[in-house]
Amino acid sequence: MLQTNAALLSKRVIEMAESETLKMARIARELKAQGHDVINLSLGEPDFDTPIHIKEAAKKALDEGFTKYTPVSGTPDLLQAIQTKFKRDNQLHFETNQIVVSNGAKQSIYNICQALLNAGDEVIVLAPYWVSYSEIVKMSEGVPVILTASIETDFKVSVEKIAAAITDRTKMLLFSSPCNPTGSVYSREELKQIAQLISQHPNIIIVSDEIYEYINFEGDHVSIGAFEEVKNQTATVNGFSKGFSMTGWRLGYIGAPKWLADACSKIQGQVTSGATSFGQKAAAYALLAEMKPTYEMREAFLKRRDMVRDLLSEIPGFKVNNPKGAFYIFPDVSAYFGKSNGVTTLHSVDDFCDYILVNTYVAVVSGTAFGEPNCFRLSYAASEVQLQNAIARIAEAMKQFN
Ligand code: PMP
Ligand code: GLU
Repeated sequence: MLQTNAALLSKRVIEMAESETLKMARIARELKAQGHDVINLSLGEPDFDTPIHIKEAAKKALDEGFTKYTPVSGTPDLLQAIQTKFKRDNQLHFETNQIVVSNGAKQSIYNICQALLNAGDEVIVLAPYWVSYSEIVKMSEGVPVILTASIETDFKVSVEKIAAAITDRTKMLLFSSPCNPTGSVYSREELKQIAQLISQHPNIIIVSDEIYEYINFEGDHVSIGAFEEVKNQTATVNGFSKGFSMTGWRLGYIGAPKWLADACSKIQGQVTSGATSFGQKAAAYALLAEMKPTYEMREAFLKRRDMVRDLLSEIPGFKVNNPKGAFYIFPDVSAYFGKSNGVTTLHSVDDFCDYILVNTYVAVVSGTAFGEPNCFRLSYAASEVQLQNAIARIAEAMKQFN
């Protein structure tokens, strides 16, 4: 007979939080399977298909028998394409042996944490932050030091606050810009200030997660690693999931100092052996091919950004900022905390998200998981009709609390 004995599980997994984004996506799928009319705005996943020319490149690689293990860090042609891309788009100059391709940017970040952190090492995480940062740091025995910023500062942490958080144990500074979950983008000047600060602490590595690089609605993307003073102290993380709508392909990468890239490759060599062979062929092609589909997706996201921002702003009590990138909006709904409709009292944003899901079948993610318990995250990577319907349902449901 099949035995289950959860007591056998490691302390590590017992103490780990489930990914809240993936959990909400799972619940939304389950409710849908039960026949409910769910609008799932929980998952950060472009609703567009992978551009056809990229799929064709993968098919060609399969047909040509490109089906074997690749070098652990990535195929030579993909490493070269990434090298070219870093130079072309980011003014970052890496040798190909400083680049490591992994099964998603998530694994890239995991590799870096595993490579750098000893028990008790501190990682400064700029909040609101992407859900997995804190759990990956903890899995690597590091201590996340969460620095918060509210909607009043466009969810951006000041350099003074970062400076004040640095201790002898600080090993890493970790953040995303454009940011998941807020859509905020750190300006060139802000990044320069952070670079100057960190350059005074040579034992701190900046992990700059730039996976939303191509979904930036204002100006050029700035890579912090391009500032001379931190170029040997920065690991730049990127991937194919967002800009090329390739979430299911599981392809991410880093450019980093060689000693760190070597360590990440060593870890990967014992864990996954590297990313999928034919996927890498298509990825190399994607980076060097024309980027029209990426720009079209960005234009669609921009249109939706304006629409969701305006519609959400009209709901009484919702405080909304103007996201500058990515495809998330992060309204502050703390005005509702403590309010009741006679049946349900909304004590927290978790209550808010549960209420919305159960009563309107709109799935969003609580800000608690992102280190900001006044807000919720709505992904607008969905059709305009779905977004309009979802926000109309939320607006209607909130009327009961006014
Ligand atoms: N970083 C951020 C900020 C993200 O939102 C995501 C979500 N996909 C990732 C990294 C991981 O991306 P992937 O593993 O799909 O490349
Ligand atoms: N990054 C996306 C999100 O935040 C995908 C899910 C995940 O990996 O967390 O929703």
